[in-house]
Formats: sequence, structure tokens, C-alpha cells
Amino acid sequence: MMGAFSNEPMTDFSQADNRRLFEAALAQIKSQYGNSYPLLIGGRPVQSESVKPSVNPARHGEIVGLVAQANRQRASQAVDVAAAAFERWKRVPPTARARTLYKAAALLRSRKHEFSAWLVVEAGKTWIEADVDTAEAIDFLEYYGREAERICAPQPLVRIPGEDNEWTYVPLGVGIIIPPWNFPLAIMAGMTASAVVAGNTVVLKPASATPVIAARFVQLLHEAGLPEDVIQFVPGSGGEIGDVLIDHPLTRFISFTGSMEVGLRIVERAARLQPGQRWIKRVIAELGGKDAIVVDRDANLEAAAQGIVQSAFGYAGQKCSACSRAIIHVDVYDEMTERITMLTSQLSIGDPALQGTDVGPVIDRAAYNKIRQYVTAGKQEGRLLVGGGMDEGSGYFVEPTIFADVDSQASLAQDEIFGPVLACIQADDFGHALAIANDTPYGLTGSVYSNRRERLELARELFHVGNLYFNRKCTGALVGVHPFGGFNLSGTDSKAGGPDYLIQFMQGKVVSEKM
Ligand code: NAP
Ligand code: MG
Repeated sequence: MMGAFSNEPMTDFSQADNRRLFEAALAQIKSQYGNSYPLLIGGRPVQSESVKPSVNPARHGEIVGLVAQANRQRASQAVDVAAAAFERWKRVPPTARARTLYKAAALLRSRKHEFSAWLVVEAGKTWIEADVDTAEAIDFLEYYGREAERICAPQPLVRIPGEDNEWTYVPLGVGIIIPPWNFPLAIMAGMTASAVVAGNTVVLKPASATPVIAARFVQLLHEAGLPEDVIQFVPGSGGEIGDVLIDHPLTRFISFTGSMEVGLRIVERAARLQPGQRWIKRVIAELGGKDAIVVDRDANLEAAAQGIVQSAFGYAGQKCSACSRAIIHVDVYDEMTERITMLTSQLSIGDPALQGTDVGPVIDRAAYNKIRQYVTAGKQEGRLLVGGGMDEGSGYFVEPTIFADVDSQASLAQDEIFGPVLACIQADDFGHALAIANDTPYGLTGSVYSNRRERLELARELFHVGNLYFNRKCTGALVGVHPFGGFNLSGTDSKAGGPDYLIQFMQGKVVSEKM
């Protein structure tokens, strides 16, 4: 029996010992750069003709791994193998499945810096961001293990005389797991482990930018005793093999986290009944955001400025929860824009492998080019306060960039840019600020800085986002503490890391026996 869940602590890098250990991990993984990672189908490594290098976004000449790419035939085969494995895995008791997760969490904890080091070099995370990502992965394993034990136990029912009634949750079948690259360990691990601990078998298609971390995590699950045919590891281009995985008649559900465009495509395709298909496919889709921080006239402006800068530029703005709009009351607009400009100009940008770096690179050339278009557009749509510089000489670096006086309908204020670009928008009053905040297709996170109770209560009621924060930053949701998911086109609001999550990968079965 495991104790109650508690969050994995963050590493204190002000301690010299911790710094040495992290440096050592960064040095140690170097010997494994360029290793090959095959597909894993039914536990067997499968090489493929096509291999793709995974590169370090801070030094794009540096290859961190060579990853086999699945073609459509392999992808389809992976679903068949997962379907066969389901017949056994679904009968493994939930407590035994949960123990595999606890064991994996213990292994990951013992190799924490090693995994974080891979996050630094494959995803361009700073030490702190990498440490948080790994800690969150540990949390998901611990949390979903306990959730499986809770939900798979017989559920409470109203009793009637003369009948024995039992209500339990059983797994669904084969799941397709498609994570994004921005939390390449935590989100990938959480999406995979939740589906598996619920008794499903899966095909895991990692994001193409971060397959090495995923491969190493799958390896760790095997070390923890997970049967090798429960997860089929199928790296490859989403555009190439995504449809095959989603359309397959034996696919029972799709767990997706990524962009709105891809998510909506998956929802549409999954709705079509395929020949031989015997169920309605379930789609759990967590999508993008255009998250705002609202600053009221009597807010603590220094705290607000810090919250905005951390939320906007942590991991170079590449979080679904990142603040990309600062909506500021007219009375404090000038002072606030000055404060956030000042704090932003102090951020150091560079290689995240160096401990002092605040902002690393963006993930790849496509992201870099997309962000450049918005920085260019921003010079028409707003007034550049700070940043705007870009350099892809050695890595994909974009300066933290702030535009002021942006119209709430401008592309800068409506589109998810997914980079270190912040739009400041002036509001006439608090009600106006909330109206602007709600006026995008998304509804993921948001934050309000105010010292007036009635304003906070108004925001509590009207600010339509899945995760709303008061007087703190809008990033950094913790497993179990802040169940996470968004409204509107931000997704199905699955609330990852919360008590409603796991049940989405199961279905309830009621058995009634006459006595
Ligand atoms: P993305 O481009 O949509 O990719 C996500 C995943 O979908 C990747 O594994 C990708 O594979 C795959 N994919 C691409 N095209 C596909 C297709 N046609 N069919 C099936 N799968 C396909 O998103 P991203 O750039 O990785 O991640 C950033 C996005 O994720 C942002 O919009 C962000 O807000 C969102 N996000 C949301 C949350 C949340 O909890 N709401 C959390 C994190 C991120 P390839 O890599 O091979 O293209
Ligand atoms: Mg992408």
C-alpha cells in the first residue's frame, strides 16, 4: 500500500552539490549522443530504411540521436500488435499495473538529472525547466498509479434487497498516444502511463522533435517491469502516419496533446466509422492557448510584472499555458509596460546547458520561421518595447519580445505564436479587460492581478478558462494540485493530473445478480 500522493520536490540549484551532479549528468549523456533508436513493436526492435536525426535546438549541428521512422505499414502493424496484447494486459489486476508505475517513478527519481539532461539537449530546456519537467513526469506516475487503484475498486451504489450489484471500471482497448514536444517527458509520460495503468495497450507516436526522451522513457518502463508489448513505440512524422493510426478500425481511443489544427483533424477523422470498427472512438484532445494576464489598477504591480515575465518567457514562451497577452488597466498601463520591459531586458538568452541561462532556443527552424513572421507583423500591429532580435547561426534563438498598444483583434493578440512574444493590450476598465481576455477561440489558462475582492469574484465567474490563477503566474500547474485542461478550442478539458482524468480511458460496467 502506497502512502498519499505528494509532489516531487524541485532541485535546489543554489546548492553546489546539486549543480555538480547536474553538470555531471550533462557530461555523462554526451557519450550517448548519436545513438540509434529503433521502433519497438511487440517488444521487438524494428529498424527502418528511414532514419531521422534529432538535434539540439541550441546547437543545431549537434545530433543527439538517430531515430527510426515508421512508415504507414509499420504504424498499422503496431495497432494490430497492441490489440493482441490488450487481451492479456486488460486482465492484469489494477494494483499490479499501478505497481509498475510506482517502480518506474522510483527509477526515474534515481536517474532524475540524467533525464533532465536529455531535456536540456533535445528540447532546449534550461536546468530549472528541465528539472520541473522530470519532476512532473514522476508526479504523473505516482498520481495515476493511485488513481487506478482508486477507480478500479468497486464503486459505491445504492443497494436494494434481493440483488447483488457491482459497478467497476474496465479498460477500453488500443489507444493512440500523440504528445507534443514541449513537455517531452512529463506530458508524454503522463499520457502514456495513464492509458496503460487503466489497462489499455497503446501505440506511442512521440513528437518528431523529441523522440529520444520518449524512447528512453519507454526503456525505463520496461526496466520497471512493464510487459514489452503494452507500448508500441512508433516514432515518425505525424503528417505521414497519423491518419493510419487514427483511422485503424482497432483503434479505440486517441489521446492527443498539441495544436488546435491537428486536434480538430483528429476529432473529425475519429468520428468516421471504418469497416470492421465496433465502437465509437473516444478522443481526448488538449490543444493550444492564447493565455492572458489581466492587471487591475490597484494590483501589486511589481508582482504582476514578475508574473507576466515568468509566464511569457519561461521556456521561451513555448508552453500551452504561456502568457501571450498582458491586458492592463489604462491607469497603470504605462507603469506596467515599463516594469515588464525592464525585467525582460535583464533576461539572459543562450545555451540552456549553461546554468545561468534564463531563455534558451525555440524548438526548430519551422518554429523559428513562424515566430519571425509574427515579430515582423508585430512591428505593424504594435510598438516594439524590447527584443525583436533573432539569430539562427548556431541555434534557434529569439529574443524575448514585447509589443505594446496591440489591438485585441490583431493577429498578435489572437493567434497562438508559441514563442517568446508578448502583446500588451490596454483596457478601459476591469470589465473591458475581462471581455478582451475572453475574446479568442481559446480558453486554457489566465491570471488576474488585483487587490479588490469584488474584482477577483467577478473574474472567478466570467473569465472563461480551464485554469484561472489570481495574483500569481499562469504557468506551472502541479499534478494533483491544479488539474489541467482548457475550454473552447483549447480542448476537451480532460484535466490531466486530476481525479477526472483516468476515467476517460475506461468504461463503467455494472453487473447485477439476483439473489
Ligand atoms: P502539433 O504540431 O499539433 O504536434 C503534436 C503531435 O501531433 C506531434 O506528435 C505531431 O507529430 C503530431 N501530428 C502532427 N500532424 C499530425 C496528424 N496529421 N495526425 C496525427 N498526429 C499529428 O503540436 P506541437 O507543435 O507538437 O505542440 C505545440 C502545441 O501543443 C501548441 O498548440 C500547444 O498549446 C499545445 N499544447 C497543449 C497542451 C495542453 O495541455 N492543452 C499542452 C502542451 C502543448 P510530428 O511531431 O511528427 O509533427
Ligand atoms: Mg509541430
